[in-house]
Amino acid sequence: LTTAEEDVLDEIDEKDIDFLRLQFTDILGTVKNVSVPARQAEKAFTDGIYFDGSSIEGFVRIQESDMRLVPDPDTFAVLPWKQSEDGGSARMICDVYDTSTGEPFEGDPRYVLKNALERANDMGYEVNFAPEPEFFMFQEDEDGRATTDTADHGGYFDLAPKDLASDVRRDIIFGLEDMGFEIEASHHEVARGQYEINFEYDDALATADNVATFRTVVRAIAAEHDLHATFMPKPIPKINGSGMHTHMSLMTESGENAFHDADDEFNLSDEAHSYLAGILEHAPAITAVANPTVNSYKRLVPGYEAPVYVAWSDRNRSALVRKPAARVPAASRIELRSPDPSCNPYLAFAVMIHAGLDGIERDLDCPEPVRENIYEFDEAKREEYGIDTLPSNLGEAVDALEDDEVVYSALGEHIGPKFVEAKEQEFEEYLVDVSDWELDRYLETF
Ligand code: GLU
Ligand code: MG
Ligand code: MG
Repeated sequence: LTTAEEDVLDEIDEKDIDFLRLQFTDILGTVKNVSVPARQAEKAFTDGIYFDGSSIEGFVRIQESDMRLVPDPDTFAVLPWKQSEDGGSARMICDVYDTSTGEPFEGDPRYVLKNALERANDMGYEVNFAPEPEFFMFQEDEDGRATTDTADHGGYFDLAPKDLASDVRRDIIFGLEDMGFEIEASHHEVARGQYEINFEYDDALATADNVATFRTVVRAIAAEHDLHATFMPKPIPKINGSGMHTHMSLMTESGENAFHDADDEFNLSDEAHSYLAGILEHAPAITAVANPTVNSYKRLVPGYEAPVYVAWSDRNRSALVRKPAARVPAASRIELRSPDPSCNPYLAFAVMIHAGLDGIERDLDCPEPVRENIYEFDEAKREEYGIDTLPSNLGEAVDALEDDEVVYSALGEHIGPKFVEAKEQEFEEYLVDVSDWELDRYLETF
């Protein structure tokens, strides 16, 4: 066993952990767990834990159904909720191996991200990411089902002790901190019932693990307060939706920020400019992965602080990519504003990294920033500035993904086709559905 693995065994002992949840995600980013008694931890490290993968969404073809989970000791964390009196539960995030070949399983999203990081490493970079997930908390009805009544709307928080919402938020933050998260900031968002929690930046793999964990923790702790937390991108029409802005930078092997250049007007290095250009060029295809639901596209409309146009800016928030002000060199970074928290963080981060590295490899020129409010541009003005529009629905986004060799191949040979198939099906189902909006509008009119 490695030292890190030994440390986990000690901690299991010290903290009286009975059960281990071995965590991984499917293609859609849903967290899956295999629970084992904690005494199997050592065996999990040495041999892995075998499971039947055929029941996991998009994971395997029928003939190859045996998978092996190997926990990453760096991800050990005691679960902060529902600890029983006689012992607690902890989780570890796992890499998935194909038992027939003994190799990493190509359908494991974590492996796809590791491949992206390996490409970055080969080019001499470490990758840092920091996400800003937003979410709503809603009331539950008498049967415990989620409603869209914002908890601080509908009089709920008016009648309840004034700071119930901040109590829940505090519990969430304490819970996350107990699990080793570094929380940078947390605040009430623009919309009623909407919150944002910002993570301290970390390497992209740890950050993706954190996002997967974050969604579980937020939902579990909200549920303890009889609230439903949702990461659905646009639960309520005509008010802001929930995004997951993603800050990115590259670090050199000697630990310097490769995105910083004190002499540049924007304090961005040539590499940063080319990376940014890569993100802009591949933006339509990235959208399919970073905004993977039908509902994602109800958020990406003008007027709600979500991006619609493919441009970058050092000033305004209507652009797709923003260059936040950086007080110290380490903070020079770019912020992609399109992703939403319904995405699979492993896949979304992987395609962003590949797109950016492609920009660096091809030494792409970065366009000028756009400093005006692009929402106010008409089509002629957008054309004059050469500003493209993001895909306007999931179908268009998936088409863009299939047409983009760099982004599509970033997903790997297993996940690429499966992802496209799943998303095309989702979009077709949506197209043939008849919505409440249509019934309201037409049922009595015609
Ligand atoms: N909620 C906005 C969105 O959908 C972002 C608001 C902000 O934090 O700037 O992206
Ligand atoms: Mg925000
Ligand atoms: Mg932001």
